[in-house]
Amino acid sequence: MIEPRDDLAQVLEEAREIGWGDPADYLRDLQRHDLDALAAAVCRTDGELIGVGDHDRPLALQSVSKPFTYAVALQECGLDRVLSYIGVEPSGEAFNELSQHEDGRPFNPLINAGAIMAQALIPGDTLEEREALLLDRYAALAGERLEVSEEVLRAEQVRGDRNFALAHMLASSGMLAHDPHEVVQGYLRQCSVEATTAQLAVMGATLAGGGRNPVTGQRVFDERVVQQTLSVMLTCGMYDSSGRWVAQVGIPAKSGVSGAMLGVVPGALGLATWSPRLDSYGNSIRGVEVFRRLSDRWDLHVLRHREPLSR
Ligand code: GLU
Repeated sequence: MIEPRDDLAQVLEEAREIGWGDPADYLRDLQRHDLDALAAAVCRTDGELIGVGDHDRPLALQSVSKPFTYAVALQECGLDRVLSYIGVEPSGEAFNELSQHEDGRPFNPLINAGAIMAQALIPGDTLEEREALLLDRYAALAGERLEVSEEVLRAEQVRGDRNFALAHMLASSGMLAHDPHEVVQGYLRQCSVEATTAQLAVMGATLAGGGRNPVTGQRVFDERVVQQTLSVMLTCGMYDSSGRWVAQVGIPAKSGVSGAMLGVVPGALGLATWSPRLDSYGNSIRGVEVFRRLSDRWDLHVLRHREPLSR
């Protein structure tokens, strides 16, 4: 029988041997003490949670927040409305590219343009109201309250130009109902929300469980919302190596510039890793290695041939 803790610990030590890769430039000062932080956690849909390494240290969600905000927008606004603002196609371009469909829709919710659009769809008249709703849903996903790190937020704001440009692009296409600067503030604040790797695994397990948090039992999202969210994670979640990711690892996932990674095996588990050393795509090198090895070891690839269920 598989002993998941031993597997997790062993795979983490194998990944630790990879000593190259740098943190994102603009986060270098913030993350210099974390450069060799390494964590993995798995939460199963029966609620069992296992963490190894630095699994209880907080890290910024960064782009890993994007699928969650998209799911909140879907839950609150409905699929049709969200689809009329945000597409579901891989863009094939950099995550922060100024790109959109001819009708103004960003290609998908996991590139910055789409994530900023999703942030703007969250109900609420003010930034504070929208954030309160978002943090409420993030807390339901994790089973614990999560907070914005003001330190990370300051670093984000220093180099926010590109995101402001994206919000103005959306505004010029008539897509934004709010002030673009306020929407970007909301987006940067969501990127700066901190969670531990263990909490992130629980958030993933909530998606794996079809929208029900397996630790608290609370229903957070409808199953259809989760299906939509996992679909874009599968096709667009790993920046410009999403195709290779599906071929090698084969599960819906999202990575972030902090070195966070989240993978979801529907019906089974949420798996989270953290290591700030990034590859040239912006994905955590050690994180990808942990996922690759565990996908083989635990037979996680969702497209692998399996014998039909016996009747
Ligand atoms: N806050 C970052 C940005 O928008 C997120 C980057 C990321 O994790 O991909 O630039």
